[in-house]
Amino acid sequence: MRADAIVIGAGHNGLVAAAYLARAGLATVVLERREIVGGACVTEELWPGHRVSRAAYVAGLLRPAVIRELALERRGLVLLRRDPSSFTPLADGRGLLLGPDAALCEREIARFSRRDAARYPQYERLLDRAARAFEPLLDAPPPDPASLAWRDVPALARVARGVAAMRGDLARAVRLLLAPARDTLAEWFESEPLRATLATDALIGAWAAPSTPGTGYVLFHHVMGETGGARGVWAYVQGGMGALSDAIADAARAAGATIATSAEVASIEVDGGRVRGVALADGRSVEAPLVVSSADPQRTLLGLAGAARLPDELRDALRALDFRSPVVKINLALDRLPRFAGRGDAPGPEHRGTIHLGAADLDALERCFADAAAGRLPERPMIELTIPSALDASLAPPGRFVASMFVQHLPHDWDASRWDGARDAFADRVFACVDEVAPGFSSSVVHREVLAPPDLERVFGLTGGNIFHGAMALSRLLFLRPAPGWSRYRTPVAGCGCAARERIRVAA
Ligand SMILES: Cc1cc2nc3c(=O)[nH]c(=O)nc-3n(C[C@H](O)[C@H](O)[C@H](O)COP(=O)(O)OP(=O)(O)OC[C@H]3O[C@@H](n4cnc5c(N)ncnc54)[C@H](O)[C@@H]3O)c2cc1C
Repeated sequence: MRADAIVIGAGHNGLVAAAYLARAGLATVVLERREIVGGACVTEELWPGHRVSRAAYVAGLLRPAVIRELALERRGLVLLRRDPSSFTPLADGRGLLLGPDAALCEREIARFSRRDAARYPQYERLLDRAARAFEPLLDAPPPDPASLAWRDVPALARVARGVAAMRGDLARAVRLLLAPARDTLAEWFESEPLRATLATDALIGAWAAPSTPGTGYVLFHHVMGETGGARGVWAYVQGGMGALSDAIADAARAAGATIATSAEVASIEVDGGRVRGVALADGRSVEAPLVVSSADPQRTLLGLAGAARLPDELRDALRALDFRSPVVKINLALDRLPRFAGRGDAPGPEHRGTIHLGAADLDALERCFADAAAGRLPERPMIELTIPSALDASLAPPGRFVASMFVQHLPHDWDASRWDGARDAFADRVFACVDEVAPGFSSSVVHREVLAPPDLERVFGLTGGNIFHGAMALSRLLFLRPAPGWSRYRTPVAGCGCAARERIRVAA
């Protein structure tokens, strides 16, 4: 088989790349190892009638230009705003709702601290202004100071304008990006429920405690999300996250791309330093002068292209990438909504956003990470519970609900066999944390799936189970990602492109 361009992997980023390549007139073939498209952005029917966002569960970071240019809403994408965005229930029956509604935030935070309620809008404004300043960097290959060129000018000019507009806020924004999240949150706020809720954005997916340098950036990164032009607002996807990938796949096919599933690429074939195509694990091959990979850079370059083709410095940098993952994803079918102490029986605002449970303050989060680093399961981990079928009845049969728990601070080096003896007991421990604030939750669980880091690697092809395709450390961002000198999606193999997440990747 011959094509103009091959895309390895039908995760949502690979599909976006395929859609743009096909729209540019290239005969494009997407090759996906799984039997479905979407990568970690999928809906799967885990139990009859129960459709679950099996990995990623809320959307916000897909660039608005992609939604617009690929006409994703016309292709069935419906974003259901999280409003309120979060609920943090406490054991004493109190709870903290946060959301896009400024009046709600002020009222809710004031129940814990009037000082924090007054400061929260300033904190939000700072993050909003910083996001406005830096987000042009998301829509262009990151400018590399070592090789600046005219093509970098538009993005740099937009960043410069945004930075200039920040005036007095600039120093505080830079400090927020560079400081550990703990320093920032403790400086701004005194109430622990608020600090712990906001810390989620800094810790999710990161092998880090709140006091780890670099967590400030991860916090900021998640705040850059938006829905329908509203910054910091994330959304469920109607039909589950797979509906987003399906809409992108539809755009790619409509532009002429071919998408093949159950088609694992075993190697990238190279002739005289230039890419020739790929060989599949089942013995087939596809020829093309252009290969774009949406698998992570280590898997793509060390694995598929071959370490021997890389300069020593790049090879060493790729080997040193950090794929430690602290997350477990628990997918659930429930026979009723959790009823939180102090709240009524009926579905309420507390069920609509992400529900923050377990580790309840910054010190507790530090202890969780210390446990994980020592190879132990934390007693009361950081848990983010979502119940998308509280908003989208299409996901579960009548009288049932689907829910997900994203749990942080698990040891990164437990292998599958060690998890085999621990998955269910750990899930029971997590459910017991929910029982403390929503009595009877454990008994509402009808089905469960527990995905530990080795499972995330096996099912989704994520190296180490790392949800970011490698840590988003300060030393591995922008022009340093994945390695100095190689941030512009090109590789040493001519015609082969490799990319980080969240960007439109078109290699030449
Ligand atoms: C449990 C979990 C929860 C998450 N929650 C969120 C969230 O709520 N919101 C959010 O924004 N992000 C979330 N993320 C992160 C997000 O899902 C990923 O960043 C995103 O899916 C990356 O998309 P991608 O297309 O770049 O890569 P992937 O989704 O990883 O897709 C890569 C694809 O390449 C395929 N592939 C790999 N190797 C080969 C090969 N050799 N041949 C053929 N195909 C191959 C894989 O099977 C996969 O389909 C989460 C991730 C996980 C795992």
